[in-house]
Amino acid sequence: MNDPRIEQTRSLLAQLNSGIIAPEQIEMLRNVLRFHEHRYYILHDPLLADAEYDRLYKALEQLEKEQPNLIRPDSPTQRVARELTAAFPTVKHLVPMLSLENSYNAEDLLDFDRKARDLTGLSTIDYCIEPKFDGGSISLIYENDQLVRGATRGDGTEGDDVTPNVRQIRSLPLHAAFSGFGLQQIEIRGEVLMDKEKFRLYNESLMEEGQPPLANPRNAASGTLRLKDPAQVAKRNLEAFVYHISYYTLQPGQPTPEVLKTHQGSIDLLWNLGFRSPHNEKRVCHGIQEVIDYCHSFEGERDTLPYEIDGMVIKVNDLALQEKMGMTSHHPRWAIAFKFKARQATTKLLAVEFQVGRTGAVTPVAKLEPVAIGGVTVSSISIHNEEYIREKDLRLGDQVLIERAGDVIPQIVKSLADARNGTEKKIEFPRQCPICDHLLHKEEEEAVWRCGNWECPAQAVERIIHFVSKDAMDIRGFGEANIRKFYEAGLLTDIPGIYQLNYEQIGTMEGFGKKSIEKLQQSIEASKNQPLHRLLYGLGIRFVGETTAKTIARQITHILDLKAKSLEELQQWEDIGPKVGGSIHQFFQEESNIQLIEKLEALGLTLKQEEKTKTAGGSLSGKSFLFTGTLPTLKRSEAEAMTEAKGGQILSGVSAKLNYLVVGEDAGSKLEKAKRINTITILNEAEFLELIAN
Ligand code: AMP
Ligand code: ZN
Repeated sequence: MNDPRIEQTRSLLAQLNSGIIAPEQIEMLRNVLRFHEHRYYILHDPLLADAEYDRLYKALEQLEKEQPNLIRPDSPTQRVARELTAAFPTVKHLVPMLSLENSYNAEDLLDFDRKARDLTGLSTIDYCIEPKFDGGSISLIYENDQLVRGATRGDGTEGDDVTPNVRQIRSLPLHAAFSGFGLQQIEIRGEVLMDKEKFRLYNESLMEEGQPPLANPRNAASGTLRLKDPAQVAKRNLEAFVYHISYYTLQPGQPTPEVLKTHQGSIDLLWNLGFRSPHNEKRVCHGIQEVIDYCHSFEGERDTLPYEIDGMVIKVNDLALQEKMGMTSHHPRWAIAFKFKARQATTKLLAVEFQVGRTGAVTPVAKLEPVAIGGVTVSSISIHNEEYIREKDLRLGDQVLIERAGDVIPQIVKSLADARNGTEKKIEFPRQCPICDHLLHKEEEEAVWRCGNWECPAQAVERIIHFVSKDAMDIRGFGEANIRKFYEAGLLTDIPGIYQLNYEQIGTMEGFGKKSIEKLQQSIEASKNQPLHRLLYGLGIRFVGETTAKTIARQITHILDLKAKSLEELQQWEDIGPKVGGSIHQFFQEESNIQLIEKLEALGLTLKQEEKTKTAGGSLSGKSFLFTGTLPTLKRSEAEAMTEAKGGQILSGVSAKLNYLVVGEDAGSKLEKAKRINTITILNEAEFLELIAN
């Protein structure tokens, strides 16, 4: 490839090495930055190290700071708005945004094709097919190559002007060379999404903060588009696909460009101008049978895509034919959506149970009439807290709409108020702990009610279960049922008790043979050497999830170092804010917690950070690894530990620095990205194990 901007990049970097970049070169510098952003955000194939990009970006910032008259609204530095948005003005779309007609099976598609052939008088029609992206629709206007407006769909005629937020979406160019095609003003349609991996992380962060997770990435994307703070929008890493040109004007004297005669052509045009259009996903099919086949084969790939789709959209490819076919007030006649198998269903809310967790939080769980969604039967769903119940106005006996988006835990989307018959009952939230009768309390600014009784049996058991669990100390063969049994028999009352079990007495209990006791004893013994971050997570400090535990563990050598850390010191660490920091601080100021930890130390647990076994001479030294998706047998943390033990390095993202990407099931965007960098070797678990063994 010999794009001139590659050479320009080198020259600009060289200039930076020997001083500064001259103001005359500012436009070149911008173009170079746009080029690299496109490589990174759209093609996922960077040609520049992050640090090099940063240097160029900073140089542009510096130039613009020194000479503000050189700033242009489509400069790469101008995405980040520094002000909060007061309100989103209502704006009119240049062309109304219609809905799509839906189809669910081959017959519906045959029917659609028959009507299309009748309307056009053709015997075979060419269709262009692309995914139906499951996000929030947007409409964008570019004028003289600059993004001037981004709006939500609203009622189809008018939407909200969310331009400051749309500007934060890195896969949308602020500048695109439409003028090269003679285009002056253009209105584009697209869909804003949060990709699955980002959504998973976002939901995790919500739950770590004690907030209910969202049902699907679509809600996350739509919600984000309405935030008042564009800087927050930037942090959520939204994506945008654009798939339709709804309106354009030509520069005086310019002819309609040839590419704008087909739908396929407009998708390609958008792609070539730096947008993320379904250029690689689309297919032009000759006749309806090809359409049907492509829809079915794409459905099979649904779960392997890094983003959520809920079907395919079939569009007549020839735009003159589209014009001829026209539209109803609801939808165009030249397009139809083919909907994939639903991930939503309705069912009846039968009862609510209240469960007490290890922090005393009382969580309502809805019991449902069992219903199948996407091959899984759902019969109970967490409904999080009292506020959530009130907001969704859930009542006993209600018909509710539930959703299971991909691998997200099923959620109730809403209750169907119109289906009520008057016998539905209000859900009464208890004021006393359902287990120990202690009065529940609620802290200010918190949504959950808690049982504050430290001795509450429910909490004690849950604390032990959490400590033993797979992601914490991972004591194999010590399941929930046995923990409960031992607790009820008075054999185990707290965490240190795990290491002081009376095995003789256990031997007298039903179902415990010599073998199983030996095994239990062994795995309990082995857990004493678990790495520090597992212990930290296992202690069940509020808001300290696995990721936070790892962050903390990296910063300390002994767990009791945390006793001496001030709240300010804790907040210096990555991703630790006042809430998480406050909780850690409080935990380590509590004398009973310190005593518990000291007890564990006396019982022989490792409370010190293992010296990093980064054996310089290890067989993997100098090699970098990243794991994605669910591996068939290894847990990610195990695989990472094995890698590090052999001297390998774990990276946090896909870049040209990565040597190996190890891929499990449901691998998302990382895999896509890695495929595009040909120096990365992609391995499955078996291949990885083989590499480790050699
Ligand atoms: P519906 O909301 O079910 O009426 O479907 C219409 C909506 O699908 C449009 O408003 C778009 O927001 C969305 N959509 C997603 N992907 C596409 C696509 N490739 N082409 C057209 N519309 C799409
Ligand atoms: Zn209680």
